[in-house]
Amino acid sequence: MDDLLFRLKTTFGYGAFRPLQREIIEASLAGRDVFALLPTGGGKSMCFQLPALERPGLTVVVSPLIALMKDQVDQLQAAGVAATYLNSTLSAEAARTRLAGLHRNEWRLLYVAPERLMLDGWQENLRKWNVQSLAIDEAHCISEWGHDFRPEYRQLSKLRDTLPDVPVMALTATATTRVRADIVERLKLRDPAVFVASFNRPNLAYRVVPKDQPQRQLIDFIRRREGESGIVYCASRAATERLAEALSARGLRARPYHAGLDAAERSGNQEAFLRDEVPIICATIAFGMGINKPNVRWIVHHDLPKNLEGYYQETGRAGRDGLPADCLLLYSAGDVAKQLHFIDEMSDPAEQQVARRQLSTMLHYAETGGCRRREVLGYFGEAFEHDNCGGCDNCLEPRETYDGTLAAQKFLSCIIRIAQASRFSVGMNHVIEVLTGAETEKIRRWGHDRLTTYGIGRDLSRRDWSGIGRELLRLGLVAVEEGEFATLVVTEEGASTLRERRRVTLTKSMDVPVATRRKSTRSGEVECDEILFGELRRLRKKLADERGVPAYVIFGDVTLREMAREYPIELEQLEGITGVGARKLEEYGAVFVATIAEYLGSNSRLEFHH
Ligand code: ADP
Ligand code: ZN
Repeated sequence: MDDLLFRLKTTFGYGAFRPLQREIIEASLAGRDVFALLPTGGGKSMCFQLPALERPGLTVVVSPLIALMKDQVDQLQAAGVAATYLNSTLSAEAARTRLAGLHRNEWRLLYVAPERLMLDGWQENLRKWNVQSLAIDEAHCISEWGHDFRPEYRQLSKLRDTLPDVPVMALTATATTRVRADIVERLKLRDPAVFVASFNRPNLAYRVVPKDQPQRQLIDFIRRREGESGIVYCASRAATERLAEALSARGLRARPYHAGLDAAERSGNQEAFLRDEVPIICATIAFGMGINKPNVRWIVHHDLPKNLEGYYQETGRAGRDGLPADCLLLYSAGDVAKQLHFIDEMSDPAEQQVARRQLSTMLHYAETGGCRRREVLGYFGEAFEHDNCGGCDNCLEPRETYDGTLAAQKFLSCIIRIAQASRFSVGMNHVIEVLTGAETEKIRRWGHDRLTTYGIGRDLSRRDWSGIGRELLRLGLVAVEEGEFATLVVTEEGASTLRERRRVTLTKSMDVPVATRRKSTRSGEVECDEILFGELRRLRKKLADERGVPAYVIFGDVTLREMAREYPIELEQLEGITGVGARKLEEYGAVFVATIAEYLGSNSRLEFHH
């Protein structure tokens, strides 16, 4: 075992590096500037935490997220690392003590908010504190091109002048090429070693289900995941409150979270979620940035996200501990119409165009009969080489295809007839109404009940037709015209398909029930004794509450699951367990092995097995 691996094992209790961690750490220790783009859950923090312990002096970590600072510092201290933070939440007295410690070189890691670094006297301090390394977390915040620009990050470029010889590490989970270049330039990185990890999150399973009775679908989904932590993302503040109430009324403890709640309630709800007091949070997308709760087991999108990047970031909050997690999107044509309506109301045409393009990528993800993981990765410019990802609905339960030639012909000719008769195009809904022979005021007024295509689709339901319509859109036989309304037109390709009577193969609509838990092993799964796992979780909660920290500061779920599989009853047997470093072994080892021994003692059936 080499030195770095030894440090990883003894201090943090991990037996192997995650992809690129070692390379990043080695480059940093060699004194190079580093740019690291790793997905959420990729283990960015380790990239500066471990080198901080390998070198003398102080590592300064800049992070915009105050809640996260305390959390990381708690976790580091639990692992026996001399880490501290300074931000506006501390009393003057507490801040003074910490500053005194810095002057005595007592700390190895210091977390600070960016604005603090620019206060009077700090430049002076930084020069005195033997700073050996600077890590800029969430580095994309420095770029106006990013989705999360923070003006105070701009000040960071001055750090290079204050500490010209100190190597800088910039880390982020999200950056387009443009933002990447911006980060390198603004932070004045010098010939940085650049690391870009795969964005694939193999332990996340992706599913899309047609939304028909969202509340019932949501409840079914959660009932199958009793006690597991999850987030329900909603499009509106009102929906977060309504759903949290509906879930709570059914004994599924849930709290709302949105920017409109008063600060105390908002942070109280977040805290309750982080500490596993409440398993479910119903939130707008305001929630999640800076949440590094590792054991979020599922994410449900109750409403359609605006773009795939956002969807990726939000689902990315699940399964940071590497254990399997489920991501479900409830999808309806109504949501699409709502979004198109919002887009129509935008005043800036350029903005409108971007929003349309983004929405269409999102729709493509939701509609595709192919691998969803490939869609997501493709969006980030990453090729996914495997035929079957083993972790999305379409790969797990491939959707059937059928000969949809006749249906396609009916649909396409209906659009054409309407356009010929009226000299204007109409939306999807109207086409379906004509096909199914609906008797609406519009149809009468426009005389569409006299078209030859009126009622030729009565054999299928409206829902079937809207599935067929979406398929034709996906196949490019029909397109949505840019303009005031989302009207349908037959494309060149659609017209020739009709003319030449070409065969059209359609994919059946998604009608699978709400994601069920699968039996087979999934990527990241740790099979274990679920009853013992439950007991260890209770023990962990008790220890965490006594210390006033979130449960995962004590041990993560991976650690507890491995314990509940290996049944360690002696301290030495804990050494091979992921997440048990020297400090935690000393502090918690005895009570965990005692609990396991007691469990085995009270469970003769198991002993018999051994
Ligand atoms: P990121 O900031 O990239 O989203 P974190 O730094 O929060 O990710 O790490 C996510 C989780 O992975 C944390 O619980 C962390 O302790 C854990 N972790 C980091 N490195 C390793 C490793 N080499 N082996 C196992 N777990 C790791
Ligand atoms: Zn797949």
